[in-house]
Amino acid sequence: MTIAVLNCQGCRTCDKVCKYGAIIRNGSKVAKIDAEKCQECYACVEACPYGALVIMD
Ligand code: SF4
Ligand code: SF4
Repeated sequence: MTIAVLNCQGCRTCDKVCKYGAIIRNGSKVAKIDAEKCQECYACVEACPYGALVIMD
């Protein structure tokens, strides 16, 4: 499973809920998931107020 980032608003809510430091930005406001650090807990998916994180099969 992977998480797609669609229409991220840069609010950083996901940074706060990810316990694994898997949300990265590389200087952009748009969130990216570090696949090597992500433990697929989906806390970020539930927390995003914009529904910007979508679980992909
Ligand atoms: S919580 Fe959603 S909108 Fe906010 S930075 Fe993360 S992905 Fe973007
Ligand atoms: S699924 Fe969990 S571990 Fe992966 S980026 Fe989201 S909050 Fe972090």
